[in-house]
Amino acid sequence: MSELLAKDLKYIWHPFTQHQTSKPPVVILKAKDEFLIDERGKEYIDANSSWWVNVHGHGHPHIQKAIAEQFMSLDHVVFAGLTHPKAIELSERIIGLLPDNFNKVFFSDNGSTSVEVALKMAFQYWYNKGFRKKRVMAIEGAYHGDTFGAMSVGERDLFNRPFEDFFFDVDFIPFPSKERESEILDEADRLFATDEFASLIVEPLIQGSSGMRIYTVEFLDKLVSIARKRDVLVIFDEVMTGFGRTGKLFAMDHCEVKPDIVTLSKGLTGGVLPLGLTVADNNLFDAFLSEEKARGFLHGHSYTGNPLACAAACASLDLFGTDQTNERINNLCDWNMTFAKELKGFPKAKNVRTMGTILAFEIDSGGNDSYFAEIREMAYAHFIENGVLIRPLGNTVFINPPYCINHLSYKLLKEVILDLLKSV
Ligand SMILES: *Cc1c(COP(=O)(O)O)cnc(C)c1O
Repeated sequence: MSELLAKDLKYIWHPFTQHQTSKPPVVILKAKDEFLIDERGKEYIDANSSWWVNVHGHGHPHIQKAIAEQFMSLDHVVFAGLTHPKAIELSERIIGLLPDNFNKVFFSDNGSTSVEVALKMAFQYWYNKGFRKKRVMAIEGAYHGDTFGAMSVGERDLFNRPFEDFFFDVDFIPFPSKERESEILDEADRLFATDEFASLIVEPLIQGSSGMRIYTVEFLDKLVSIARKRDVLVIFDEVMTGFGRTGKLFAMDHCEVKPDIVTLSKGLTGGVLPLGLTVADNNLFDAFLSEEKARGFLHGHSYTGNPLACAAACASLDLFGTDQTNERINNLCDWNMTFAKELKGFPKAKNVRTMGTILAFEIDSGGNDSYFAEIREMAYAHFIENGVLIRPLGNTVFINPPYCINHLSYKLLKEVILDLLKSV
């Protein structure tokens, strides 16, 4: 064991980790494009985009330069009473990329906080208007982050059981599998008719953490229409789907009907610095205007609007404006579709599916639940051993690599996945 690793084990409490049983982590020294390089010099293809955040590849020179230049002029500053050019530029550009109804950007630090902000905005909107609307609707299997509000609107599962008593009540509608769509829409309509709902929050078109579960644009359009008809504020959590993951810049770009609030984070800075945005409709913002200070949105974080993160985000948007990025996204979408066809020939790969740059399937475990966990650990170890970073969710294997991944790396990735399927 290296000295670095020994010190890690001595001092660090890692996220989502059972330290008694988990293997020691791999020490990563460097990253470039789609590759991670460990302390022994071994390369891994980052098929996970480092927790789904990296979109243009690691160490992109354009983003590096933007951060370095920003650091030379302004590192960080209070964001209440003061402002700065990069936050202004980023806001103007994000508003320009979103549908016309969006026109105010609120800054925070990550996906969970962007969701907290969205929920608080929706509750306070009704409070300021003098309505008692306190219910929230979400979809079973949702994941919106690990803070209390975000956990409350997420699936109640093993990950958050110790905290369940402290969550606020949420009405969960079932996951909209194709056969149940109309039944679920009826249920949503019946609930909304109570006029008690402040908001509806969804991961648009694909639920990430519950296992890359895809549902239809038609369902989402109908659900959003019903909500809007009943004056329920609609929040799209695009923390995962934003910035090209679904093949378009935002998942809402696939939809006819648009939300009132959208949350953005993961890919926002190109995956290099933490930053969250909650973008709201003007109608929402107006409800916070008053002579009374307490009617304003009194929320903020020390690092709100951090200039370095804003500079990274602006540089990432520059890259989204190029033909090269669009071409890369389109190629990756095509490769995923071809690979999905190939995977369908493997009986051990169930529910093979793609959504843009994401490909997922389940390893058939013969329905044995306790085996799920084992197969997850076995698959993860196989991938690491073979130089690929893939983090299965239970028995769901998925890839969502940086868009810069070259065809050779993609082919290698495929081979490692197919080897696993041949061996189970
Ligand atoms: C990852 C994720 C979050 C939480 O973001 P963090 O930056 O990890 O706090 C929220 N919503 C969705 C849909 C996510 O995928």
